[in-house]
Amino acid sequence: MHFHRRIALALVTALALVPAAQAEGFQGASGGVYSFSDSSVAAQQPAAQSGVEIPTATLSPQVAALPWNLMLVNRNNPVPGDWSPELVMLDNGRQVDSRILPDLQRMFDDCRKAGLNPTVYTAYRSYEDQKDMLVSKYRQYKNQGMSRTNAQIAALKVANYPGYSEHQLGLAVDIDSADPTTCSNASVWDWVKHHCHEYGFIWRYPKQKSDITGIDNEDWHFRYVGVEAATYMMTNYLCLEEYLQQFYGIPY
Ligand SMILES: [Zn+2]
Repeated sequence: MHFHRRIALALVTALALVPAAQAEGFQGASGGVYSFSDSSVAAQQPAAQSGVEIPTATLSPQVAALPWNLMLVNRNNPVPGDWSPELVMLDNGRQVDSRILPDLQRMFDDCRKAGLNPTVYTAYRSYEDQKDMLVSKYRQYKNQGMSRTNAQIAALKVANYPGYSEHQLGLAVDIDSADPTTCSNASVWDWVKHHCHEYGFIWRYPKQKSDITGIDNEDWHFRYVGVEAATYMMTNYLCLEEYLQQFYGIPY
C-alpha cells in the first residue's frame, strides 16, 4: 500500500540542490554486468529504447531473505524494478520508507538542538528516476560527440544503473546543511557521523571502505539499519557488507 502523508519534519523547503558531482558512481567492478561489451549486456535488454544498455536487476535469494532494515544494494546486489517501499513524504517533498521516519526525526531534532541546521536533499529515488538520471547523462555525453560506449562509461561515473542505487530502498538519506552560509556542511556531517548510530543510521561510504562498498567517500550519505546493527557497525568500524558477511554469510 502506498500513501503520502505530509509530516511535520521541520526541514526547510527552499533547498539548495547539490549538483550531479555528488551522485554515487561506481568505481568500477570486475566482470559481470559491468562488462561493456555490447554482446553481453545488450543481450539482457535491447538498447533501442533509451540508448543505454541496462542490465537486468535480479535479487539473490540470500539478500531477499534479509530483514528489511538490512536490505543490501551495491554493485553486486541490485534491487528489481518493481521494488516499492511504503513511503512517507517529508516537508520538503523528499520521500523515505515510513519505518525510518521516527528515528530520522529524532536525529534531526537533536542535531538542531546542537545548534546545527541539517536538511535531507536526496532520499528515495525510484527505478525510473535512476534510469532517467543515467539516460539523460548518457544523451548529454552522446550529444557532445562521444561514441555510444564512451558515453555510457562516462554516464555511469555520475549515475548508477537503475536498481543499483541504495536510494531506491528509501532507507538512505543524503544530508547537508540547509544554509551553508551560516552552518557548514562539514559541521553537519561531523555531528551526524558521530551520532547517527544512536538513531539507527550508519555512515555508509567512508573512504576506508570504498574497496568493499564500491563507492568513493561520501560524507553526506547515511543509511538506516536500526539502532542495534548501526551501533555494532559504527563501534566496530564495519561497513554494511562486512556486517552482512559476518552475521548472514553474504559474501562481498
Ligand atoms: Zn546518497
